[in-house]
Amino acid sequence: MNEPTPVAPPPVSPADDFRDHLTTADREGHRQWLYPKQPQGPFTTARTYLSYCLLVVLFAGPFLRIHGNPLLLLNVVERKFVILGAIFWPQDAAIFAIATLLFLTGIIVFTAAFGRLWCGWTCPQTLLMEMVFRRLEVWIEGDALARKALDRAPWTAGKVWRKGLKHLVFLGLSWLVGNTLLAYLIGSDKLFALVTDNPRHHLQGLSFMILFTLLFYGIFARFREQACTFICPYGRFQSTLLDENSIVVAYNPKRGERRGRWRRDQGLEQRQAAGHGDCIDCQQCVAVCPTGIDIRDGTQMECVHCTACIDACNAVMRRLRRPPGLISYASLNSLERGEGLRPTPRLVGYSCVLLALAGLLAFLLLTRSEVDATFFRAPGALFQRTPEGNLNNLYLLKLVNKTSRALPIELRLENLPGTIAIMAGKLVVPPEALAESPVLVTLAAQKVGAPETPLVVGIYSGNQRLDTLKSVFIGPDLSAPSP
Ligand code: SF4
Ligand code: SF4
Repeated sequence: MNEPTPVAPPPVSPADDFRDHLTTADREGHRQWLYPKQPQGPFTTARTYLSYCLLVVLFAGPFLRIHGNPLLLLNVVERKFVILGAIFWPQDAAIFAIATLLFLTGIIVFTAAFGRLWCGWTCPQTLLMEMVFRRLEVWIEGDALARKALDRAPWTAGKVWRKGLKHLVFLGLSWLVGNTLLAYLIGSDKLFALVTDNPRHHLQGLSFMILFTLLFYGIFARFREQACTFICPYGRFQSTLLDENSIVVAYNPKRGERRGRWRRDQGLEQRQAAGHGDCIDCQQCVAVCPTGIDIRDGTQMECVHCTACIDACNAVMRRLRRPPGLISYASLNSLERGEGLRPTPRLVGYSCVLLALAGLLAFLLLTRSEVDATFFRAPGALFQRTPEGNLNNLYLLKLVNKTSRALPIELRLENLPGTIAIMAGKLVVPPEALAESPVLVTLAAQKVGAPETPLVVGIYSGNQRLDTLKSVFIGPDLSAPSP
């Protein structure tokens, strides 16, 4: 019996121009509203649980306290930043610079290895849109078909009620999200005062509250996936970071093509003999996609790696009694050549830079002082002799207390015998504040052998040395000829 002639699969892309325009806009640029189906499956379940955990952290973040400080505070106006309970000041600019570089390099390494995993699994925009706002919309208006039908239906009392309820709930949630953002910027105490105090005393804060509420309402009620496909710069530059070893959500064209409906009277062998692959062109992967793309066209900028299409396709494969994974997390190399994940020189290089930056940041954090101190000689002052034959120098001490507790300060001379006295008497630097005082250093004249003697001063609080500062002690030039 003659073997059936194998039919070569056609090119993957059914429409060659799909990359020329956004899937959410028609050729004239008008918005195409999406009605994604709710996905179901193991990936969606895992994402749901992770989302709930992350959302709890997101909303509780400004209110949780570590050593009396919030988990995260980014007060740009007052230039005060708290990360995991540790206060950072503008004087910590080096730490910020290294942390920013580390963050950006981390994104590069992570994207080169795993594509846009961040977007689908942890980005607040995706979490709030897909796990909160979309689910509420489904709860109020129904699943994809019902929502589409409702939008096309004439305005009846029922439609007004559903739409009104949805937008009221969206506005309330947007107010909550906006206030959370505000709490991250100004702190929960100030936010509480803003909400409970006389509004006339907080016009600026209230303006921002309204602005943020309207902004988030606009994003989640109208703008939606456009934030990811149109605005977010990360999606746009990811294409420069991906290579054929990056693990992305991908369709396996070798297995799926040639796509086509599976006739009821057709067995698997007959289907394969006719040159058909496993894709039955049911469009379920497209129906659940929150950005409206067809992953079978290949990796696309709009894909946020939410895995909804994997769950949808695996459910179809289960019904067909075919193995799952026609759409899966995979690299181009593994799909086309069956190669496993291997680190490329580029990925190794990025990772080395990442490790070096992480080490540098750890060093800066571990050696970071709780105070930021300057200690310098009082301008224009020379040395003075005391009646006892000692020499005095006058200095100015400035201290920034970076902690949230008051710091009683004591100074000690570290390299010479002598006395060091804070002229202000007892110096206690209030929390998160600056204090300054003149300081008098007295040395025995015979210990001052040169016009400039190095001086090392230790700054202590209790018995803990907070910092060590260097300066010079000015004395007479003994080598100069006597007049
Ligand atoms: S869900 Fe799977 S079988 Fe259906 S069209 Fe998409 S890839 Fe093909
Ligand atoms: S293609 Fe798949 S993973 Fe990508 S956004 Fe659409 S549903 Fe999510």
